[in-house]
Amino acid sequence: MAVEQRNYVDGEWIESETGETVSVENPASPDEIVARYQQSNAADAHRAIEAASNAAEEWAATPGPERGAILTETSRILADRKAELTELLVREEGKTRGEAGGEVQRAIDIFSYYGAKTHDLGGTVKSASGPQTTLYTVKEPLGVVGLITPWNYPIAIPAWKLAPALATGNVAVLKPASQAPGVAHAIFEALDEAGLPDGVANVVTGPGSSVGEELVTSEGVDAISFTGSTAVGNTVYEQATEDGKRVQLEMGGKNPTIVADSADVDEAADIVAAGAFGVTGQACTACSRAIVHTDVYDEFVEAVVERAAAIEPGPGLEESDMGPHVSKDELESTLEYIDIAQEEGAALETGGSALDRAGYYVEPTVFADVEPSSRLAQEEVFGPVLAVLEVEDFDDALAVANDVDYGLSASIVTDDHTEANRFIDEIEAGVAKVNAKTTGLELHVPFGGMKASSSETWREQGDEGLEFYTIEKTVYDNY
Ligand code: NDP
Repeated sequence: MAVEQRNYVDGEWIESETGETVSVENPASPDEIVARYQQSNAADAHRAIEAASNAAEEWAATPGPERGAILTETSRILADRKAELTELLVREEGKTRGEAGGEVQRAIDIFSYYGAKTHDLGGTVKSASGPQTTLYTVKEPLGVVGLITPWNYPIAIPAWKLAPALATGNVAVLKPASQAPGVAHAIFEALDEAGLPDGVANVVTGPGSSVGEELVTSEGVDAISFTGSTAVGNTVYEQATEDGKRVQLEMGGKNPTIVADSADVDEAADIVAAGAFGVTGQACTACSRAIVHTDVYDEFVEAVVERAAAIEPGPGLEESDMGPHVSKDELESTLEYIDIAQEEGAALETGGSALDRAGYYVEPTVFADVEPSSRLAQEEVFGPVLAVLEVEDFDDALAVANDVDYGLSASIVTDDHTEANRFIDEIEAGVAKVNAKTTGLELHVPFGGMKASSSETWREQGDEGLEFYTIEKTVYDNY
């Protein structure tokens, strides 16, 4: 029988007031229920906010390295459970075992990274203009932070919000995505075992429209960090800023890889295929547009189609190259975009269908001759569907790459140093990569988008990831 998970509030694992639960199925075999989670409501969220608020003062006053020791221990506990959590992630979200293992490792590393950072928190000391004055800054926590996360990186994203929030002395309530909350619960089990005081971190599952909205609108919450779709993010922003909350949004993408005429076409096809079809195309940084110089266009289409056709989708726990979509809805959304692309006149080169087997599988799909203004070239598909666009020259490639609402990640494959540097200067994206895939991030450098991909206010990860969670006080101490 599937396990029943509870909310973690004020250091206790408790049921929702609704008395209802919701099941999460395995997207590779939808008859299998992996676990049941509390179908919480706004009152449950409110209770968690109050618990956090009551714990705030003591946690803020706890010395940084003491807070850090708990995060470091959390990392160690997660590491001990890595194999089990990897399997749970595969069964709830659908990634392959390798992809899921990489994501769990990322969460382990994030807790240990921010645990160590607690030794270096602090402000700056400056020379004062007057005598006998010490002039310096200190960074203080914001208070109660609400964290709202998507299903596609169900342990890494909660980790990269929770760890810096707790390191800097904030208290938190997490609302993970309803689709795959299991591995986020495991973080709270680890925090509890590591000795986190009651109420400092809480997790409440339930619909975005009730639990999420309560976090966003409650006067008891000081800041919201949200990762998810641009549509939901924009609503969150409007609601959260109404009472002056600090808000961080990281949202969708329509990420390009430019393939220049100087590119090694085989290398370019490897880079694009890895970016487009890895994690079933369900990454905010997935490559969904290959923008290819006319001189290498035909050769590139042939090479990338060969790679897509060689990918064998299958259950992540078996030896497969690509897992299923996370849900029936996500599969149907991808199939709808495949229909739209065909109606728009794009040339279907490979793939294009769901697999005739249990599970939410779609074939890796490549469309060529895609028009830059078409919906396939403009809208986030969030599946393994690549649009290939032909351009006349480098200027044309840059213009097409920038001609979308989004601006998250972008890459170029080129042997031309000048083009590479112009790309870095002119691309409208928060992440710019040369001769590399659009996916894959380092945890110690900032991450975030431009344009509709981000609120463009605060970055996540690295040292910058700490900034969102603190406010600076300037001290003039005239002794
Ligand atoms: P959604 O926007 O649908 O959901 C994100 C989170 O918001 C979920 O926890 C959801 O809850 C919650 N939510 C939904 N409605 C509300 C509301 N009215 N108020 C408050 N919270 C709400 O995104 P997905 O989960 O489908 O994730 C995929 C999206 O995330 C893609 O667009 C992807 O590009 C983006 N993403 C961006 C990243 C980045 O760093 N830029 C990284 C990873 C993903 P529930 O699950 O219950 O609906």
